Amino acid sequence: MGPLIALLVLCLPAVTLGYIGFCLASPWGTCKRCRPGGKNRTCRACDGTGMRPRIGWQLYVYARRLHRDGTR
Ligand SMILES: [Zn+2]
Repeated sequence: MGPLIALLVLCLPAVTLGYIGFCLASPWGTCKRCRPGGKNRTCRACDGTGMRPRIGWQLYVYARRLHRDGTR
């Protein structure tokens, strides 16, 4: 089990960095709730835009705001 755990520990930062890069490259994902039917004006999840910010991007915005408020 030792080598497997070491491999996982090594993979985790790589996956995390990859996901962060992915979020930075395209911070907006498609809305899962109204996407099969295209844009839905009454969709409350995306305000009718058909696009939603990724969870990683939301975390980044949140962390950035915390940092800005903390350093002011
Ligand atoms: Zn939607």
